[in-house]
Amino acid sequence: MNIILLGPPGAGKGTQARRLVEERGMTQLSTGDMLREARSSGTEMGKRVAAVMDRGELVTDEIVIGLIAEKLDSGGGGFIFDGFPRTLAQADALGALLDNMGQRLDAVIEMRVDDEALVARIAARSTCAGCGEVYNDISRPIPADGRCVKCGATEFTRRADDNADSLRQRLMEYYKKTSPLIGYYHAKGQLSVVDGLGEIDAVSAEIKAVLDKA
Ligand SMILES: [Zn+2]
Repeated sequence: MNIILLGPPGAGKGTQARRLVEERGMTQLSTGDMLREARSSGTEMGKRVAAVMDRGELVTDEIVIGLIAEKLDSGGGGFIFDGFPRTLAQADALGALLDNMGQRLDAVIEMRVDDEALVARIAARSTCAGCGEVYNDISRPIPADGRCVKCGATEFTRRADDNADSLRQRLMEYYKKTSPLIGYYHAKGQLSVVDGLGEIDAVSAEIKAVLDKA
């Protein structure tokens, strides 16, 4: 099963993707991770990636699609596309690649959120310095004893770029570039919408319902 999670920064894509990895054995394909991995792999493709990045240029869609093709080839329990596609051209390229490999896109899930509610939520977010577990002053506070429930660490960080202005800017970017994808996948009958501002468990349940029907 292959799926795309769409949603603005802070909508909780990372948290939900991690759950899908744990519970369904899916593989998360993050463009950033793939590029870093390719770079250090020393393969032909890796050398191309390194050369482009060293020149300070953006990696082309063709390269990213090539990296995705290598991953799809390696099998696994299905893929979660994270951060790709971002544009209609990339969506077309990904569709063609999956077709060529005899695979399909089973669901595109939009984690829909209200902008102002998202700004408030992100400002309230902190991350365990020990294990990366995410807390939120409003919906999931750090326990009263000040210890992470997962690893017991007592240090938590707030992302510097989580301030309201930079978030509004990133939201604008997302809507400008990515909103056409929502229409694109809706027209193909592949789009499902979940409430990205719900409790983490409630969002997981909504996503599970979508995947069970896919
Ligand atoms: Zn922790």
